[in-house]
Amino acid sequence: MVVYASPGHPDSLVKFQSRYQHYIGGEWVAPVKGQYFENPTPITGKVFCEVARGTAEDIDAALDAAHAAAPAWGRTSPAERAVILNNIADRMEQNLEVLAVAETWDNGKAVRETLNADIPLAIDHFRYFAGAIRAQEGGLSQINEDMVAYHFHEPLGVVGQIIPWNFPILMATWKLAPALAAGNAVVLKPAEQTPASILVLAGLIGDLLPPGVLNIVNGFGAEAGAPLAKSPRIRKIAFTGETTTGRLIMQYASENIIPVTLELGGKSPNIFFEDVMAKDDAYFDKAKEGFTMFALNQGEVCTCPSRGLLQASIADDFLDAVVERTERITRGNPLDTNTMIGAQASNDQFEKIKSYLDIGRQEGAQVLTGGEPDDRGGEFSGGFYIKPTIFRGDNSMRIFQEEIFGPVVSVTTFTDFDDAIRIANDTLYGLGAGVWSRDGNTAYRAGRAIQAGRVWVNNYHAYPAHAAFGGYKSSGIGRENHLMMLDHYQQTKNLLVSYKETADGFF
Ligand code: NAD
Repeated sequence: MVVYASPGHPDSLVKFQSRYQHYIGGEWVAPVKGQYFENPTPITGKVFCEVARGTAEDIDAALDAAHAAAPAWGRTSPAERAVILNNIADRMEQNLEVLAVAETWDNGKAVRETLNADIPLAIDHFRYFAGAIRAQEGGLSQINEDMVAYHFHEPLGVVGQIIPWNFPILMATWKLAPALAAGNAVVLKPAEQTPASILVLAGLIGDLLPPGVLNIVNGFGAEAGAPLAKSPRIRKIAFTGETTTGRLIMQYASENIIPVTLELGGKSPNIFFEDVMAKDDAYFDKAKEGFTMFALNQGEVCTCPSRGLLQASIADDFLDAVVERTERITRGNPLDTNTMIGAQASNDQFEKIKSYLDIGRQEGAQVLTGGEPDDRGGEFSGGFYIKPTIFRGDNSMRIFQEEIFGPVVSVTTFTDFDDAIRIANDTLYGLGAGVWSRDGNTAYRAGRAIQAGRVWVNNYHAYPAHAAFGGYKSSGIGRENHLMMLDHYQQTKNLLVSYKETADGFF
């Protein structure tokens, strides 16, 4: 067990700056309008740094830097870019604990997650795309005896990326690794709630990239995000965030006729068929843990298994077991590696979750455990903590249909296979789902019938770099992870070459 010292304490591994600028053209650059915003840690609620508040002028400066860098970067070979991406991964690995503590302090999540999941996954993402870009091959088609079609993968040029606050470094990496691997220059806008850990990362890896290839402009959605997404100087916009914002991003992109990838909200079903309780064995233990995954990352995951669907024949007994399991989730200092659940990322999010706890009760749902804020005492009293909460109700309730983005699961029952699929698909969203059954056939059929881009079968919340991730329905457009992601950051050049020595004879 390790308890990391809080940033600000002399023993802390992380020395945050008191004021952060934008990262543009390989330099720390003050905002054109000279404005900054305060950044609190959700762990105590106290401000620990201030951050440049970007506007259209700063976005323009970042786009200037990106455009200056893009041609030479785009001409580097896949092998050269792979070396740089691997160097980034190595530098991150050497600074794993620094990044993990920085991410925990900025976002509120428990350090055991940042140490064991978020940052290692981010590192692997750079390594995966370093390999993927080298393995990618162009195509050659022989059209006829005299003509050959060559297909080349070319970068798009300068791309814009806008990310949310729930996995700051991992979300940045999901976007940066494939974009850079494909030879693009990037302007990234982090979420205003969690800018600091990404800036710590930029400080660590910035020297490994040519200046201008990676640019970070901080600030708010309307002031910095919108000018980026609307700019005619980007060749693509990639966005992760709320469905309502995603709709705006598509509108902006349509003005410039550029491609969009959107990773949006979810209301993911986690389905437990009755055979999970056939024996009290290791599989049942795994299934119980799979249910409690709703509390992972404080429920601030777009694929949070926020709807529990239980076969009616086991519902009461299964709920008894998972309530007990949920109440064993360790709550304490997020910088203590024993703590399993941290703070919600912002006061706004904390208030939003509390309002949904009220809505659930008003709708008549039963609270089986939790249902209230979690005062952790001492310096943590000002932090944004919620107790893991299990509601029991029915799928028409708002707590089953609207994204809460907190450690809250809404449970209902189903009678048979068809009923399970009907309820699972009764949502606007289609991002993730879980299926639990000892019977491979049932699990396979359920997985295929659910309208979601990612269905976990007998597991939940694994995010390997080489498995495609993305939404059906209102959960988004396009995929992240997997080498198919490279298609979103490249365009195909076809060179159609005639080797014929005589005219065709048309004219
Ligand atoms: P949000 O849409 O409010 O903000 C996301 C980002 O967009 C932020 O950087 C914000 O500054 C920016 N933004 C806001 N308005 C903008 C505008 N008009 N133009 C350009 N940029 C703008 O979302 P949020 O509340 O920060 O994030 C939580 C949401 O993200 C949840 O709904 C969650 O489901 C979703 N999410 C989805 C995935 C996924 O992969 N599908 C992953 C993480 C989070």
